[in-house]
Amino acid sequence: MSLQERDKKHIWHPLTQHKTSTSSLGIVSANTALLWDEGGNKYIDGIASWYTAMYGHCHPYITSKVAAQMLKLDQVVFSGFTHEPAVELSEKLIEILPNNQQKLFFSDNGSTSVEIAIKMAMQYHFNKGEKRTALLAFEDGFHGDTFGAMSVSGLSVYNGPFEDLLLNVHRIPVPNGNNNPEVLKLAAELISEHNIAGFIYEPLVQGAAAMKMNNAEGLNDLLQLCNENNIITIADEVMTGFGKTGKNFASEYMETQPDIICLSKALTAGLLPMAITTCTQDIYDAFYSDELAKGLFHGHTYTANPLACRAAIAGIELLQTDEMQANIKRIETSHLSFASTIKDHPKVKNVRQLGVIFAFDLNIEMERYGNTRNQLFDFFMKRGVFLRPLGNTIYILPPYVISEEELNTIYKTIEASLELF
Ligand SMILES: *Cc1c(COP(=O)(O)O)cnc(C)c1O
Repeated sequence: MSLQERDKKHIWHPLTQHKTSTSSLGIVSANTALLWDEGGNKYIDGIASWYTAMYGHCHPYITSKVAAQMLKLDQVVFSGFTHEPAVELSEKLIEILPNNQQKLFFSDNGSTSVEIAIKMAMQYHFNKGEKRTALLAFEDGFHGDTFGAMSVSGLSVYNGPFEDLLLNVHRIPVPNGNNNPEVLKLAAELISEHNIAGFIYEPLVQGAAAMKMNNAEGLNDLLQLCNENNIITIADEVMTGFGKTGKNFASEYMETQPDIICLSKALTAGLLPMAITTCTQDIYDAFYSDELAKGLFHGHTYTANPLACRAAIAGIELLQTDEMQANIKRIETSHLSFASTIKDHPKVKNVRQLGVIFAFDLNIEMERYGNTRNQLFDFFMKRGVFLRPLGNTIYILPPYVISEEELNTIYKTIEASLELF
């Protein structure tokens, strides 16, 4: 029996309605920007497996570092103990993070990094004798699937059963360059009416909202407004971190730096699950006290797993090489020229690009949306290209090591898909 068949017996997949979905494709190996299925078919991973494997799958530098670590120290409690991989990672990361970031708190995935950020923001005020429990967030944001993270994400039909249990969140549209003053005014109103503890946002690109972009100047104004009102700013860089926007972190495009940053996904180069919530000295100091209860009593069993830390260190080292930086520039240039090729196509609208992130919307009638996504997905997969269209948006976010030839195959396949409509 194939993996595809055996899978069906016991496995419940994420984000899947099993009654109406097709069965899951068995993947047996991966290398560079390529995936192979159990039938021997090859696919170009056009989204770096949800933006994780940015330096390529099974990169020998990363796997060798992790393998060596595995033989020396596999796992140890991180409460009361520390270890070389965590310490080295903290030094490496602080070096490349916006320079107001001083402290690192480890967890396991993007959602937990957000939970921790929310707790930090609320307890920061609590520890200072102020009760602030509301949060400010962008419409259509995505911050994860645990309760806090789900609460600050945009509202969706999937929240139905939990609606009454979500945190108190006020939402503003993203500033897009045309509406900046209105968004700022709305934020100011909400801030004056509610006890807002923190503002969480995806800087410049909202991944799950189909690579919707926001305006750096408008966002900077919002960050300043928050600073003036002592509202903790939380940049969720789980998607945008580690070079994807053309800079190490999207926050670097703004003058005002966030108080807290959430990292995961490419943090461990696609090898192991891990997340880090980083913060300023000021946040840390609000928890530093003779009173035990003022500490941050949050912890996950696998906190700062040494293997995951090794993968992260190796990933950052690769990111900093001239070769990887040149790859990022090369992909940016290729995207730009592809953008100019298709931007006037009658079936194409809203072409957008930042760093290695490229997206556009299909300019087609609404009633066709339902099937469009699956139709496109199948069309791409049949031609050996793995992309996950979101609604009527097609986006590319390839591993930095993708070859020009592979990138061109993606472009040509996308161009051919436009003829479907
Ligand atoms: C993926 C993602 C998350 C959630 O991360 P998980 O590891 O899937 O829990 C949070 N925020 C952003 C911006 C993401 O892209």
